[in-house]
Amino acid sequence: MGESRHIFVVSAPSGAGKRTILQRVMAADSKLSLSVSVTTRQPREGESDGIDYEFISEEAFEKLIAENALVEWASVHGSLYGTCRSELERVTNSGADALLELDVQGMRNVRNAGLDAVTIFIAPPSMKELERRIRSRAADTDNQIALRMNNARDEMAARGEFDYIIVNDDLDEAVAAVEAVIQESRK
Ligand code: 5GP
Repeated sequence: MGESRHIFVVSAPSGAGKRTILQRVMAADSKLSLSVSVTTRQPREGESDGIDYEFISEEAFEKLIAENALVEWASVHGSLYGTCRSELERVTNSGADALLELDVQGMRNVRNAGLDAVTIFIAPPSMKELERRIRSRAADTDNQIALRMNNARDEMAARGEFDYIIVNDDLDEAVAAVEAVIQESRK
């Protein structure tokens, strides 16, 4: 496998701790680079354009679809998200392995596109714990919490489609487990 670049797809219901885990994994691994997605949702507090996402208009997103510039795309929580072919190539051409943070539809679309990806699902210890974590992010209204919990149930139901399932009970252990999958895939 030595020279070939790997694509790692990581999915998780919101609140499972995916961002925290992946930030730690990327900070310790210079050979792993995030493929920055495009999205039509508004930036959240603390997010930067071009780093967390490339924030674009719906018109610009539709144009990318029409030009076949997206490897995959999906509508999540009412916004559009997609992976640009050019961004994925930028990462792999730089010599790094690509990390794609996608929802479950995105994982399926990457597979359907014939890309050879290692897929990882990060699960919360329980749905009860997930609800507690989502509620503790005071930003969400009751409706948003219900929507996120519904989506989480759908995403959890798809976890068996992934190559690996990692339960985020203990953060250090979850980080180590993701690192172990990456190291094993590179052998
Ligand atoms: P958030 O808005 O919380 O950053 O992300 C919402 C969901 O969209 C998450 O499950 C995230 O992984 C997913 N997502 C982010 N970028 C992409 C993408 O390019 N394609 C797909 N299919 N999902 C994405």
